Amino acid sequence: MSKIVVVGANHAGTSSVNTILDNYGSENEVVVFDQNSNISFLGCGMALWIGKQISGSEGLFYADKELLESKGAKVYMNSPVTSIDYDAKTVTALVDGKEHVESYEKLILATGSTPILPPIEGAAIKEGSLEFEATLENLQFVKLFQNAEQVIEKLQDKAQNLERIAVVGAGYIGVELAEAFQRLNKKVTLIDVVDTCLAGYYDRDLSDMMRQNLEDNGIELAFGETVKAIEGDGKVERIVTDKASRDVDMVILAVGFRPNTGLGNGQLETFRNGAFLVNKKQETSIPDVYAIGDCATVYDNSINDTNYIALASNALRSGMVAGHNAAGHEIESLGVQGSNGISIFGLNMVSTGLTEEKAKRFGFNPATTEITDQQKAAFMEHGNYDVTLKIVYDKDTRVVLGAQMAAREDISMGIHMFSLAIQEKVTIDRLALLDLFFLPHFNQPLSYIAKAAIAAE
Ligand SMILES: Cc1cc2nc3c(=O)[nH]c(=O)nc-3n(C[C@H](O)[C@H](O)[C@H](O)COP(=O)(O)OP(=O)(O)OC[C@H]3O[C@@H](n4cnc5c(N)ncnc54)[C@H](O)[C@@H]3O)c2cc1C
Repeated sequence: MSKIVVVGANHAGTSSVNTILDNYGSENEVVVFDQNSNISFLGCGMALWIGKQISGSEGLFYADKELLESKGAKVYMNSPVTSIDYDAKTVTALVDGKEHVESYEKLILATGSTPILPPIEGAAIKEGSLEFEATLENLQFVKLFQNAEQVIEKLQDKAQNLERIAVVGAGYIGVELAEAFQRLNKKVTLIDVVDTCLAGYYDRDLSDMMRQNLEDNGIELAFGETVKAIEGDGKVERIVTDKASRDVDMVILAVGFRPNTGLGNGQLETFRNGAFLVNKKQETSIPDVYAIGDCATVYDNSINDTNYIALASNALRSGMVAGHNAAGHEIESLGVQGSNGISIFGLNMVSTGLTEEKAKRFGFNPATTEITDQQKAAFMEHGNYDVTLKIVYDKDTRVVLGAQMAAREDISMGIHMFSLAIQEKVTIDRLALLDLFFLPHFNQPLSYIAKAAIAAE
């Protein structure tokens, strides 16, 4: 029997608690602290909710205090952990405004990430605000359920009449939110310092497909512009970049997240971006202390090294691994490839592993093979659509390093195979001869995956 304390109960924390209680409930005492009033909010639903593609927020949660307590945990909500004594093995939290000290035998840190505050004049988070409330009205950070609620309330406020919205950051969250506001018929400007969108996940040829898609749907793109200031008298009135000044009513800052690791207090080893450094068992540098999700590193199979990839999918898996290990049943993570997807105005894109650009940066000698082909046999007259596939592989070892796909139908399942290929170090030549079934309803006798692999030099 171990006493396991979990700090943070969003995706990673909840996953670890579920793993412990579903598998070894009677053997362990589990105590959970979260500073928020809700847990398990699926941020991926934020843009869908704001853009009215779903009717409400009810389905965006899959766990709560009651669920975890019904399995046997003790859960303290609205209770920030303020410090941890790693020698005495105690955590100190504020529960109902009073100091509460809890001892632990095993500790799981799942404190996640916080929005990056870029050096922009006028952009600041109110001191002590756990909900990332900005000092300037209508400047919004997007992380929590409450942030989505605030945006929706403001948009519904007729007195404010918010029509012109600037979204800063053209990563997947910024692009999704730009689409959401456009669906509400707002005048949307998407700004990024880089001269393209989704730069971390796609090479230029594929990201240009998304760029065109955004433009075709009426979003003004201000790529290659650096935001210098957000101005206004108490509330947002203007956004100023190095190239232009635009009058706007709301600014969304979506430039990324940094690991929330203050509780490490300099005692836990950290990665270059401050994330808790963990091994494949999710163990930190201090015995009996695990870290999971956005506050921790991952093992990245595409670079064969430690990396930081903040995704809910990684949070869930790392939570499972830490849950088993903290309960005394040793397992190791398989590592990750950073697999991801996005669907904007009907254009679906998925990728995994390294882009060609990134592969060069990480010191590989990358080559690529790319194809745009019909999904199904040419005689299939209906529901046949184009798919673009780009595979990145290493010229020297021929091992697959990454893949990117785009289509106007759901091709997402294809990327899972590439994820496994990267994990298992499969060569491009083996993909050429892979047993891929054929049925005209689904694909071609020689699928685009085989064709691309065969064409690889
Ligand atoms: C808008 C948006 C869209 C996204 N879309 C996707 C997507 O489509 N797919 C995907 O895979 N990922 C997506 N993500 C990323 C995903 O949400 C994160 O990777 C995930 O939330 C990480 O989970 P986590 O539990 O590690 O951290 P977090 O979600 O950051 O949760 C950390 C928890 O710790 C608590 N906490 C922090 N400090 C303390 C403390 N001192 N004391 C007590 N509690 C504390 C917090 O209240 C919080 O509940 C999206 C994120 C956002 C914001």
